[in-house]
Order: sequence, then C-alpha cells, then structure tokens
Amino acid sequence: MSLFAIGVDLGGTNLRISAVDSEGTLLEKITTGTQVSKGRDFVIGEMTDAIKTLNSKFSSQYELAGVGIGVPGIIDKRTGMLRESPNLPGWDNYPVLDEIEDRLHSPVILENDANAAAVGENWLGAGRGIQDMGMITLGTGVGGGLILDGSVVHGMSGMAGELGHITVEPEGHPCNCGNVGCVEQYASATAVVRMAKEAIDLGAGGEMERLAHNRDVEFSAKSIFNLALQGDPAAKLVFEKVGRALGIMMADIINAFNLHMYVIGGGVSNAWEAFAPRMFHEVRRRSMVYAATAPPTDRELHGASAKLSHDPPPRMLQTIITRAVLGSDAGLYGAARLPLMRNETA
Ligand SMILES: [Zn+2]
Repeated sequence: MSLFAIGVDLGGTNLRISAVDSEGTLLEKITTGTQVSKGRDFVIGEMTDAIKTLNSKFSSQYELAGVGIGVPGIIDKRTGMLRESPNLPGWDNYPVLDEIEDRLHSPVILENDANAAAVGENWLGAGRGIQDMGMITLGTGVGGGLILDGSVVHGMSGMAGELGHITVEPEGHPCNCGNVGCVEQYASATAVVRMAKEAIDLGAGGEMERLAHNRDVEFSAKSIFNLALQGDPAAKLVFEKVGRALGIMMADIINAFNLHMYVIGGGVSNAWEAFAPRMFHEVRRRSMVYAATAPPTDRELHGASAKLSHDPPPRMLQTIITRAVLGSDAGLYGAARLPLMRNETA
C-alpha cells in the first residue's frame, strides 16, 4: 500500500490540516480558523479531530506515514515544547508534542513553521532538487529555515535558522525577541505598515497619508505596495528599506553558508518588484561569496515569474535568490513531508 501523511499548519489565525500522498498530491485539505482565544486545549482538540477524520478517510487506500505539524515559534526538539510563540499565547513551556501524541496514539513530528515551509518549497516548490537551500518567509514576522544536504538544520536543540532575528540595524527598532534592529523589524508586513506610519508622522508620507485616512481600503503592506507600483515615491522608499534590510541579512547568510538557493516567501514577497532591486544591490555589495557566485541576471531582478514555477531551477553552480512558488501552502506540504522523509531514511 502506498504511503500518505497528514500535515498541519497551525497559524495564529488559521488552522489547516491536509492529507498528502508520497508524491506530493494533495488528497484533501481542511481549513478552520484557529480559535486561539478558546485556549490551547480547544485548538489541540480541533486539530486532533481533523487528523483523525482524514486518517479514517484515507487509511483504507493508503498507509499513514505519520503526522507533521508546523507551529509558529521556537521548538525545543529535546522536550517537544514551544519555547517562544507570540502568536499562540499560553502554549509556552507546555508539552505540546506529548499531548498530541497521547490523543492520536501515533508519532508526531513538530517543526517550526518556517522550517516546514522550507521543506515544502524544497520538495515541491522553487527548490525542487536543490540539496542546500535557505528559506525566508516574510509574513507578520520574518521566519527562516535552512536545509543542508536535504535535511533541516536544527542546531543543538532545534532552534537554528532564526534568520528573522539577525541584526541589520545595530541601534534599530525594538523587536519582540528582546533585540533591537532585527530584520523582522524592517521586512515583515508589520514592519512595512510601521515604516509607512513613521513616514506619515514625519510629513513625508506622500499618497500613503491619504491611504491611511481612506476607510474603504485597509492600510496594509499590500495596499502600500500598490501605491509603490503606482509610483508613489514615499511608498517606494518603504520597500527600499525592506530591500536594504533583506539584502544585509542575505549577505550574512550567504557568506556563512554558501548555499545553492535562497527562497523568499510569505505575503510580503508579493511585493518583489518593489524591494528586490535594492535587495540584490545590497547583497552584491556586501557579500563577496555572492559576488563570486552569481553573475547579474535579468531573472535576478524579476524572480520567479509564473513561467519559472514550471521550469526546473538552473543546475549550474550559482547562488540563486528567488521567490517561493507554493504560497501559503508551503508549510502545509512541508509538514506532511516530514514523516514521509523519516520513513524514507528509516
Ligand atoms: Zn528579533
């Protein structure tokens, strides 16, 4: 019987559970809002119920390889506990893994959500066939994941790959992590909105000022990006800052790891046209490893067009920085991939 796996993407706003076969075909997906306010036990109950539903539906045709769960936060791999998870209040220092395994009576793999997204893009997305890659997710926060030799880099206790908290401004904006000037404070959706408001407060908001007072349109990274596309200099400047911060961070990780590919996903990556030119400029200026391994290309500036998502990535030994292609499903596929990978290596 062929294998299938269940992948869970536990977000601060959405809980999504999928059944995926060993080839990466989605068999079924269940989406619910994560009712975080109803508490941890409620959310875990909802999750385990959905997992059981999918398992009983497909277990006559397939054998279950296992369950993988992507969670937003730092996971201590040794204890199966969440150490930091601002979007899941009350889940810190709670034995999440044991609790879920007890309810399901089957082994579960818990993974940081950005690591899961890295696995997903590596399996079915921009990084197909790439052995060594980094993933940066630009969402409410900035997440990161590193894959070396096809496996997620966990470090000593599962906390490696926190690329969002690399310092890009030594005396910069305070971050929730306790540091100041993390790239998350300049390249997340939250940061885009904050930087736009800062410009407005300084009287340099341009069209963004009108946008902020328009009750019909949400003042969001997306609507600010739309202004940048229309050529508003103030909005363009916000994304210049995003690109600069990302470029500084990317230069550091490229120098440190010399990976083949770096995939940038998450909602803010949709603003690629607005931040990528500055990002590439900074990376090239600041990373000797990048300068030595990446001749400037047109694709560099335009990233994964719709066409690229169907092309295999270039195979020559070049550093490639590109857009993710799986969108918000990357983490869901990646979570499902984890038990399948374990099965392959077992
Ligand atoms: Zn931080």
